[in-house]
Amino acid sequence: MRWFTPKKSILRNIHLSLLGYTAITVVVMWLFQIVFLNNYYQYMQKNTASRTGREIAAHIDDEDLATYVRNLCYKTNMSAIIIGEGGMQLTASDMLGMGGFFSGKKSMSTEDLTDAIAPVLSGEQTETISIVQNQTSEDMIIYVRAAQNEAGERFIILLNARLKPVSSTRDILKSQMWIITVVLIVLSLLISQFLSHQLVKPIKSITDKAKRLADGDYTADYDGDGIQELDELAESLNFSANGLSRVEELRRELVANVSHDLKTPLTMIRAYAEMIRDLTGDNKEKRDAQLEVIIDETNRLSDLVNDLIRVSRDEMLDREMTPETLDIRTMIEDVISRFAETCTDYEITCDCCDNNEVVADRTAIAQVLYNLISNAINYTGEDKKVMVTTRPCPNGLRVEVRDTGHGIPEDQIPLIWERYYRSRNTHRRPVAGSGLGLSIVRAALEKQNIPFGVESTVGEGSTFWFECPLSHE
Ligand code: ADP
Repeated sequence: MRWFTPKKSILRNIHLSLLGYTAITVVVMWLFQIVFLNNYYQYMQKNTASRTGREIAAHIDDEDLATYVRNLCYKTNMSAIIIGEGGMQLTASDMLGMGGFFSGKKSMSTEDLTDAIAPVLSGEQTETISIVQNQTSEDMIIYVRAAQNEAGERFIILLNARLKPVSSTRDILKSQMWIITVVLIVLSLLISQFLSHQLVKPIKSITDKAKRLADGDYTADYDGDGIQELDELAESLNFSANGLSRVEELRRELVANVSHDLKTPLTMIRAYAEMIRDLTGDNKEKRDAQLEVIIDETNRLSDLVNDLIRVSRDEMLDREMTPETLDIRTMIEDVISRFAETCTDYEITCDCCDNNEVVADRTAIAQVLYNLISNAINYTGEDKKVMVTTRPCPNGLRVEVRDTGHGIPEDQIPLIWERYYRSRNTHRRPVAGSGLGLSIVRAALEKQNIPFGVESTVGEGSTFWFECPLSHE
């Protein structure tokens, strides 16, 4: 059986925490102010009596002991009597107005006094402190202490303090405590409401905007309202939204580019096929030339589709690379000869050094050469020149594919390796582009740890390069 567990809400949690805190505060206050009030009061009074007794004992030799005792008793609201060994009274101060410890109608019983004094007189204890009732049933503290002056004479210090009944104070405190309790609860509710509002408002706004993000609206600007953790969340969402909007933009461009690039060869194939059917079917020479165009265009189409399939499957990243010794010069010549058939008016040259035996994955390198050379043809200048060269370098063999085109602005260089990226400048045919070529080059070379890059000068052209390890190393 599954129990229903309510979802935790920030609002509820803050309410509960603050109410809990208030409850604990109120209970502690009730305990101290009401329940233990009497005990606490007695404890404080006993402490005062003990301190006073010690102070008198320390001043027993003072010339003006009587004034000292009177002042102290006045401050602490106590009565005191100091008696010498022979029963001689040294001084006394009756601040409580009881008319003495041993006589008068408010005095304590002789038994109580004897019980308090006996352990000190016998030397068993240096001080005793007890609570007794006097003859009018008032609670009194009796404090007894032994003292000795410089001459070695012994004295007994007797202190007497009245314990006032705390019940009336407790009643006043109780009524105050009710008010305090209500005020604290209301305050805790108001504060938790305020706090949760401060927190929940930005969270709700972020959630609403995140929903818009899920619906494809990448324009939302997330804000954590200055709360550190929410600001960090908002920043991450802004980052994701930017990334998503960029991918979306590139995807849209890709669809537009690919549809355009698919459409052009299709139109040509259709036009030439119709021409053969309607006009040149019997003219072998013309028909063959036109069939050649159709074949070229279908090749272009299949190249483009292959690119798409490869990238969509992340083929280069998924493939296991198998390095082998290969002659890069032969591979370059192969690729050039494939282009030479379709790009008859282009001057594609190959200038290779002596040793071109490298160790790399054959399929990946063939793809890299094909993509770089096809880009060079695509973007080269009016002179239609493309140069492929190889030369030794510290890493092994450096392969360069150079063109004389517009070049690539510096700020775009990091972007061209991204999937789907195509520069805004429409490029010339005859090579169809999808914005995928360089992302495949990057994947193929990165996977083999082969260094690669581009050097480009706007208006002069670009040189794409990579450096393979030589086979004899
Ligand atoms: P495509 O060529 O299909 O657009 P690529 O991934 O091969 O896609 O290239 C991405 C972008 O890099 C191109 O759109 C272009 O702007 C730039 N680029 C690639 N090669 C060259 C080059 N040889 N000269 C100038 N720009 C280039």
